[in-house]
Amino acid sequence: MLRLHSYEYHRPASLDEAIELLSRHSGDVMPIAGGTDLVPNMKHQLFTPGHLVALRGLPELKGIGEEGGSIRLGAAESLASVAAHPLIGELLPSLADACADISGPQLRRMGTIGGNLCLDTRCTYYNQTFFWREALGFCLKKDGDDCHVVRGGTRCVAAHSADAATALMTLGASLELAGQAGRRSIPIEDFFTSDGVWNRRMEPGEILVAIDVPKPIAGTRFSFQKLRIRESIDFPLINLAAACRLDGQERVESLCMVASGMGAYPRKIGKVEDAARGNRLDAAVIESVAHQAFRQSHPLDNIAVDKDWRRAMVPVLVRRALEAMAG
Ligand SMILES: Cc1cc2nc3c(=O)[nH]c(=O)nc-3n(C[C@H](O)[C@H](O)[C@H](O)COP(=O)(O)OP(=O)(O)OC[C@H]3O[C@@H](n4cnc5c(N)ncnc54)[C@H](O)[C@@H]3O)c2cc1C
Ligand code: SF4
Repeated sequence: MLRLHSYEYHRPASLDEAIELLSRHSGDVMPIAGGTDLVPNMKHQLFTPGHLVALRGLPELKGIGEEGGSIRLGAAESLASVAAHPLIGELLPSLADACADISGPQLRRMGTIGGNLCLDTRCTYYNQTFFWREALGFCLKKDGDDCHVVRGGTRCVAAHSADAATALMTLGASLELAGQAGRRSIPIEDFFTSDGVWNRRMEPGEILVAIDVPKPIAGTRFSFQKLRIRESIDFPLINLAAACRLDGQERVESLCMVASGMGAYPRKIGKVEDAARGNRLDAAVIESVAHQAFRQSHPLDNIAVDKDWRRAMVPVLVRRALEAMAG
């Protein structure tokens, strides 16, 4: 049986109190939202903080609604409530689909959209029990000094495996963070880094408060596609989100595609817009975009499914997304 270490659980009543607790116990504390990722990771002794600060009950992190030209989502809203919200279904369907495709019903009820954005990276040599990792000699990311994916490498390249982040990148979202230094906003495009140990540009004492998504231009079409082993509780082997605007003659005005599961952060797939702009999404154009996406994609060998097969599946997901958006 995997046991949890002992820790003190704090339930702050306000955002300010949560920030104060994170600062007071700095170096030995972590925020916890739904706990669907953090608790298993603690059981694997990947994190052993002496203090946990609960975020799910904070009123400042709740609510989904329109604010000016944006849709604002509180970071502590559950994945299930984002997926089922009529506003999200109507205006941001790829985000609703991404949230609805995450793990299973119980985890979607507990897991939050903020926890999804702050999700730790995953690697087949890291997301294991302490005993398993000890037998391997640990790795760079935790307790060791070698990487088993890039031998002799000096940097961790574990995979970003969160689904909602990919959709939010095609939607131009920005993230509101709060900490001892006050509040700030950062475009989601600038939020992630290539460091597999800590892949986000936020201080350990900062809290993700909310996500703001500009209302899409009318007529924009969206798609979210996910490759997983079974159609149930599985992290993505690759996920892909797309947003496409067509003119009155169904010609592509803009196309944005973002994929993740291949490296430490979700990436825009370059040059796909060049292959599509000004054209209808017919079979030849779809094939050309799929080919471009294949050329741009290089999954790392850090999850337990063959990287060449995962790469070969990228054009399949691209075709599905474009066909769905072409109607
Ligand atoms: C079996 C299983 C299958 C899963 N499948 C998927 C999947 O298919 N796709 C997917 O994307 N995820 C998957 N997950 C991961 C997880 O359930 C979700 O990503 C979920 O959204 C995480 O949210 P949470 O609130 O539970 O985060 P927590 O576990 O509470 O926290 C995760 C991390 O984020 C930090 N954090 C949480 N909220 C905040 C905040 N507001 N500000 C600052 N830091 C914060 C925590 O400190 C922690 O480091 C799966 C998990 C399990 C156990
Ligand atoms: S990529 Fe290397 S260092 Fe990072 S978690 Fe995997 S084995 Fe460890």
